[in-house]
Amino acid sequence: MNDTIAALATPLGRAAVGIVRMSGPASDAILKKLTGRDPPPARTAALRPVLDADGAVLDRALVLRFPAPASYTGEDMAEIHAHGSPVILERILARVFALGARPAAPGEFTRRAVEHGKMDLTQAEAVAAAIEASTLRAAKEAQKQLAGALGRRIAAWMERALDLAAHIEAWLDFPDEDVPPPVELAQDLRALAGEMRALLGTATLGERLFRGVSLAIVGEPNVGKSSLLNRLLGEERAIVSAVPGTTRDLVEADLEIAGVPVRLVDTAGLRTSDDPIEAEGIRRARKAVARADLVVLVVDAAAPGRRPELPRAPDLVVANKADLLRGEAPALPEGALLASARTGAGMAELEARLAALVGAQGAEGEDVLITRARQREALAQAQAALEAAAAELQAARLDLAAMEVRRGWRALGGILGVGDVEAILDRVFARFCIGK
Ligand code: GDP
Repeated sequence: MNDTIAALATPLGRAAVGIVRMSGPASDAILKKLTGRDPPPARTAALRPVLDADGAVLDRALVLRFPAPASYTGEDMAEIHAHGSPVILERILARVFALGARPAAPGEFTRRAVEHGKMDLTQAEAVAAAIEASTLRAAKEAQKQLAGALGRRIAAWMERALDLAAHIEAWLDFPDEDVPPPVELAQDLRALAGEMRALLGTATLGERLFRGVSLAIVGEPNVGKSSLLNRLLGEERAIVSAVPGTTRDLVEADLEIAGVPVRLVDTAGLRTSDDPIEAEGIRRARKAVARADLVVLVVDAAAPGRRPELPRAPDLVVANKADLLRGEAPALPEGALLASARTGAGMAELEARLAALVGAQGAEGEDVLITRARQREALAQAQAALEAAAAELQAARLDLAAMEVRRGWRALGGILGVGDVEAILDRVFARFCIGK
């Protein structure tokens, strides 16, 4: 049986309320000693004194019990909703430890929920994702996954894989029985692999929704980089912060593009310079460009050939100052977008192109997304295994085909956290905050 764990479930800072949470068999007993009274009935809030070791009242707090199994972790749980003073909360937590609980490891509450079958691993990851979400779209996606949408899809695929493995094995054992011939089986395997490939196509967007995307705006000085950036920020009206970077030449700002958190980096005009400070700024700008997920090059529409040397090819070229062109059509590079930060011309198209670049269009027709690298890797393994199984089947190596299907099934199981999963659990929960 598990021991009893406790942690602060809210940040340690000044707030109206701070919550201490416990899970494990000693929860009720600790709550009773902490308050000097019998705990309240299940799931009923009661105002109770919280006592220090010498019986002095530390705080008056709302306390709650969630008896097993109808709790978040599936174990007996208790919560103490105290006043949000770091001094009080730390003292209450110290008392809870003195009375028999131990500090929870990161993600340990949610890990116990998985261990007790309250949720699968995709839902546990969704708990972390919901907390990490920095845009509404990301938060809604996390809620979908928390409700089990991804888990159900994977579980259904596992059923189908198992079914296919059983068919192949039946064919192996009883070649005369009335089971579909290997040709059809191979088609079924490929169809299943195809569905997995389609879901894998959502991974770029899904992961970027939570991790965010960095986008560098580069170009010669004075082409209008800052003006374009301000236009983007102004039109999005979703500025989280606009802080000067650590060098005099890097400005970073956060915005949302199609619900994806984007960190914009406005770099120094990239050119060669003898001035050592400017040269340092340019060196850093090059580094930022090399590191960025996406690079937008801004050129002057009247002189589109003038452009700095870049460490990598840009993802999009914007020819700015279109308003200054008088009739003559400029020789723009292919795919370049004509725009004017001054008049706003081309801005809607720029936003649409940026939305496409951040990956917002990678998920048509899919109702759930892959949101974690771990899920993506396991799903790619499962897909490859099923493709391999289809090939083995066509080569009439039925035993190898069955083995590949089972390998795919196990990879899918890893996504849900079923099977031999200790290592997977360690990897997932190491990323959690304590108290979740
Ligand atoms: P940066 O050095 O590339 O960041 O360029 P800025 O955004 O600071 O702009 C340089 C100058 O070009 C400023 O005087 C802007 O007002 C002007 N500018 C920027 N965009 C446009 C535009 O679309 N049309 C015109 N006519 N001027 C622009």
